[in-house]
Amino acid sequence: MDSHAAAGDLSDVASGNAAPRDDSVRVACPHCATTNRVLRARLGEAAKCGSCKQPLLPGEPFELTAASFDRHIATTDLPLVVDFWAPWCGPCRMMAPAYEQAAARLAPGVRLAKLDTDKAQDIAARFGIRGIPTLIVFRNGREIARQSGAMDLPRLLDWIKSKV
Ligand SMILES: [Zn+2]
Repeated sequence: MDSHAAAGDLSDVASGNAAPRDDSVRVACPHCATTNRVLRARLGEAAKCGSCKQPLLPGEPFELTAASFDRHIATTDLPLVVDFWAPWCGPCRMMAPAYEQAAARLAPGVRLAKLDTDKAQDIAARFGIRGIPTLIVFRNGREIARQSGAMDLPRLLDWIKSKV
């Protein structure tokens, strides 16, 4: 197994040598939320988390929690789309398969995640989420676009590509 991949370079952050390298991006792990540095050129090479060894960019929507949300927003240099949803929401469930396909199509340059607003009500309130599903695109720690209402795959792809 080839496990030396691109990640796991965390020691650079603390070692104090040199400025941040502009050829790498920070990616928070979808599984353990550890921040990894990945060379931009190697994003497509199935990079693994230096901490938990799971895929950093699995090409499928990953679940954010109240505990991991802020870290992901703050420490991921790649555009991050968050689907604010809830299990009881029919349109949310209807959009889920298209959202999964969009995640696969847009990987590895764009990451798609989901936040269950029932479990993370404080965050939903902070972002003023009134109806679900609501998609928000984050970049460099800030909201850059949002859209409410379910979308099919072509509209999802068009909308996300137009924002990132
Ligand atoms: Zn991890």
